Amino acid sequence: MRKRHQLNVVGAFYVEDGGCIACGAPEAEAPELMGWTDGPGDHCYFKRQPATAEEVDRAIRALEVSCCRALRYGGDDPAIIARLEPELVDHASREETPPAVDPVRTPSGRWMIAALLLLIVLAAALVLESR
Ligand code: SF4
Repeated sequence: MRKRHQLNVVGAFYVEDGGCIACGAPEAEAPELMGWTDGPGDHCYFKRQPATAEEVDRAIRALEVSCCRALRYGGDDPAIIARLEPELVDHASREETPPAVDPVRTPSGRWMIAALLLLIVLAAALVLESR
């Protein structure tokens, strides 16, 4: 679980704590949503969650321009997740389809095929012996 900066307002959009190099880019994109700490260890954070479609657009833009990739989306709105790069989303894996498993390539699949072949050979042997 990622550590949120302590000044983030509670909500889906947040800034991960640490690693800020004070680029200021997210604040320029969404000044009404982004706050800025003062003093040593300057850091951006979400001071407010987006409340309108336009603000969601700006929040997404803020994530896109973050040079350190510290701005993230931890919500589960599929429409927002679809617009973001997967590495910026905490729950992107929920939307992903699990990789298909080829049963023939699994150990249990190979054993089942071997058992089936053995049964076929035994049945053929019984048929031949009964003649
Ligand atoms: S995006 Fe990263 S480097 Fe830029 S201000 Fe925010 S935390 Fe700092």
